[in-house]
Amino acid sequence: MKFCGNCSNLMRVKAEADGKYLYCKSCNTKTKLSEEITIDVSNTTEKKDVIIITESEENTFPVTEIMCPKCNEMRKAQWTMQQTRGGDEPPTRFYQCDTCNWRWREYS
Ligand SMILES: [Zn+2]
Ligand SMILES: [Zn+2]
Repeated sequence: MKFCGNCSNLMRVKAEADGKYLYCKSCNTKTKLSEEITIDVSNTTEKKDVIIITESEENTFPVTEIMCPKCNEMRKAQWTMQQTRGGDEPPTRFYQCDTCNWRWREYS
């Protein structure tokens, strides 16, 4: 069931020539029913998997165990590789300690 965003009344499904609409009797608000709504309900298990993948993709930085100069201990650190301007120089690795958020760079 859907409720109207304008007046919070219950909306009815109304079939029209070009598709189905959610229609509010009180204020005449009309929203087209998209097909995605139907997919959402039927594929709950698949949707769960997709969410997990999306979360891991958001965290694009690889993590490694490295000596953090600030903690002076082995820590998990995210790192990124950046090529310096010259191109003939080796790329620089930038680390960020997961524990203290200290950032430092190291030449590979
Ligand atoms: Zn309404
Ligand atoms: Zn640290």
